[in-house]
Amino acid sequence: MNKKVMEDLQVSGKKVLVRVDFNVPIKGGIITDDNRILAAQETIKYLIKNNAKVILFSHLGKVKSEKDKTKLTMKPVAHRLSEVINQDVIFIDQTRGEKLEKAINDLNDGQVLMFENTRFEDIDNKKESSNDPELAKYWASLGDGIFINDAFGTAHRTHASNVGIASNSQISVPGYLLEKEIKFIGGIIDQPTRPLVAILGGAKISDKIGVIENLLNVADYVVIGGGMGYTFLKSQGHYVGDSLCEDDKIELAKELIEKGKGKLILPVDIVVNDQFGNDGDIKVVDIDQIPVDYMGLDMGPKTVAKFTEYINKANTVIWNGPMGVFEMSSFINGTAGVCKAIAAHKEATTIIGGGDSAAAAIQLGFASDFTHISTGGGASLEYLEGKELPGITCLTNK
Ligand code: ADP
Ligand code: MG
Repeated sequence: MNKKVMEDLQVSGKKVLVRVDFNVPIKGGIITDDNRILAAQETIKYLIKNNAKVILFSHLGKVKSEKDKTKLTMKPVAHRLSEVINQDVIFIDQTRGEKLEKAINDLNDGQVLMFENTRFEDIDNKKESSNDPELAKYWASLGDGIFINDAFGTAHRTHASNVGIASNSQISVPGYLLEKEIKFIGGIIDQPTRPLVAILGGAKISDKIGVIENLLNVADYVVIGGGMGYTFLKSQGHYVGDSLCEDDKIELAKELIEKGKGKLILPVDIVVNDQFGNDGDIKVVDIDQIPVDYMGLDMGPKTVAKFTEYINKANTVIWNGPMGVFEMSSFINGTAGVCKAIAAHKEATTIIGGGDSAAAAIQLGFASDFTHISTGGGASLEYLEGKELPGITCLTNK
């Protein structure tokens, strides 16, 4: 990684600005999943231990009008964080102003402060989301020139709370979470340990064209399953019945297969049903045997075995997108099979980039068997597309 890191900083006694990703689900004032808060501990604890004055901020949801503010306050998050780090978190219900400035200037070394949802500033001309220069400069002025970005989920966006502050700070580095994303997801694109095998699935090709194209350049094999597989199969002349298929992407699928020159691996059998649901006439068929009006909802056992062979050849595996409609128990086997095979391949670096694939791995109990599970849906896709992420580019080079 060509970026400076937290260990390069002198933080003792300094007001350090930290952009975290505390965009957690909240229902009726209760946080329903605190994983993002738990995940940020390491960075925050490092700063506390090194006597920094820690100033945390994050976005939470989308703030469009004054009335969104009540349900999108960071207050419950600050409360939960104080339990997690076992220390007071001073919460200031503002994004700017005297009260905030005074509270920051009154901080002792090792104390933690959190201010209000950065997107409260969006009510006024989208100041946060459009990287308003005045806001960026103001937020940067609250600290002592040191900025830590630990929010990967917004790294593909140019906002005041990431790129804006960085461009007004003396030094900007990734926190531990972002550092891991750069190392693992960035590492795959820049310098993969080969063979690199990409397992791609999920619903639609159109969501992931950029990822498929880039991985066809970078990876040794690109294995395609899930809903997007049917467009590829149809482009090869197979009848796909009522399976999810994007007819306007058939030409593209054909081109990708040609361009891939044997790198692109497709399913050989699938699980079909006569309806979109857990019940019905469910059966396993070879891909050239899909009955009329049936739909493919999962990969079959021969496909899982074939995909497993490729997984076992790999020194690096990146998995993005479930192999079937894993939310329904009748169609979880393909995803479970592939997930299990990757989890069991301990010699390789194994990475999940994708919200639903990560959810599947967690649900199946394999989460701790992977080397890295990426935390940013949109950001990991853009990173895998080979795009520069502004929230990373803005950080200080070594
Ligand atoms: P990720 O979030 O991991 O990137 P996606 O969002 O691209 O994954 O896709 C996940 C969705 O794809 C799941 O909701 C799953 O039900 C759906 N899916 C997978 N296979 C099929 C299929 N054969 N038919 C319809 N939907 C599918
Ligand atoms: Mg998804």
